Formats: sequence, C-alpha cells, structure tokens
Amino acid sequence: MTREEILNLAINSYGASSQEDMMIEECSELVKAILKLRRFYDSGYDGEAEEKKYIKSIKEEIADVQIMLDQMKLVYGSTEKEEEYKIRRLEKRLKGERV
Ligand SMILES: [Mg+2]
Repeated sequence: MTREEILNLAINSYGASSQEDMMIEECSELVKAILKLRRFYDSGYDGEAEEKKYIKSIKEEIADVQIMLDQMKLVYGSTEKEEEYKIRRLEKRLKGERV
C-alpha cells in the first residue's frame, strides 16, 4: 500500500472525527515533548544521552503530527496554496517588506 492509501484507510476505518481527535492528541504530545526538553535545559542540562532521549522523543512526535496533518489534508483538501501564500508572506516580513 502507498502512504496515501494507508492514510485514507485510517480515515475510512476510524472516521474523520476520530482522526481529528488524534490530531489534537498528537499536537499536545509534541508540545509536551518540546516542553520537556526546555525544562531539561533550564534545569542545568547534564547528560548528552538524556538530551538525545528528549530530542528523539520530539522527532517521534513531529512524525506523529505530520502523519495526522497529512490525514487532515486528505479530509479537508490540499493546503498547498495556503502554504505558498504564507511562506511568501514570511519571506516578505523577513526582508522587512510590508505585507
Ligand atoms: Mg505521539
């Protein structure tokens, strides 16, 4: 199965509403993983192995969120136009141009 076929099967099997709940859940897990790394740095930062563990956790949560985002795009449609607009707007802001 292709990646898209698997994502569509997940939506059709669990339902879009359930996958939206998963989207919210995965976002909160990513937020929590980022906060854990910040707290680790704030509390003195000892141990490279510990740091790697937190970073690995963030990467796993990014992957979870990306998978859910891809499902949301299948539910609501491509965000290509919106992303391009927002990237160009960011570019202008970074160059100090009016947006
Ligand atoms: Mg997760």
